Amino acid sequence: MSVSLVVITAALGAIIGILTPRVAWRLSVEYGEPPRSACGDCGHPIDSWVRVRVSCPGCGRRLGPRPWLTTVVGAATFALLGWAFGPDPALPGYLAVAAVGVLLAFVDLAVLRLPDPLVGAAGVLGGGVLLLISLLDWSFAPLLRALLGALVLFGVYLVIALIPGANLGFGDVKLSAVLGLMLGWLGWPAVVLGLLLPHLLNGPVALVLLLTGRAGRGTDLPLGPALLAGTLVAVVIARHGLPLFG
Ligand SMILES: [Zn+2]
Repeated sequence: MSVSLVVITAALGAIIGILTPRVAWRLSVEYGEPPRSACGDCGHPIDSWVRVRVSCPGCGRRLGPRPWLTTVVGAATFALLGWAFGPDPALPGYLAVAAVGVLLAFVDLAVLRLPDPLVGAAGVLGGGVLLLISLLDWSFAPLLRALLGALVLFGVYLVIALIPGANLGFGDVKLSAVLGLMLGWLGWPAVVLGLLLPHLLNGPVALVLLLTGRAGRGTDLPLGPALLAGTLVAVVIARHGLPLFG
């Protein structure tokens, strides 16, 4: 394992994480609405996307998720991927999806939405790297498996979303296609793990929220963060065996 690569990816992820709160706050809007451009409390105009300080210059209220949390999540996610892949040409593709994924997770937590442009960007960036590798190697079997993985996850989640009363939106269905692409590239065991792990993670979290009274039976819980976290664990296991036992 390459320690320096883990340090470099962790630092990159921390930078992504530091820049996440402002972007997440601006994109946490209802469907079809433009990005937020003013503080909801005092009306102070806020029009920049790249900002480390997250409090409103007008009233001092924190805008968006806690910066320490996004920084830790970004650094840990990137470090795990750096550790799992090492100097593999596919690493940039997985890091790109992870960067958008961290943002998506915090937007979903805020407004229960996975905006199409972000999901699309993750797919284009991740898929683009996989396509480039396939062209350079002139080998298309992994790419074909990636596309089939995307199709499998898309199909499974589409069926679940169409069940009446299912607590799953079409944003989750589209995101699952992108995640299926990245999982399929790594092989079918990764696809199966990627199907199972989000729900193994989500079940206990939902149970704790119910038991502590922070969510009721009718509360809509975002699935995006669990889909992303479960996929991350599936990718790491597929690349490296079980992290704790390997
Ligand atoms: Zn304000």
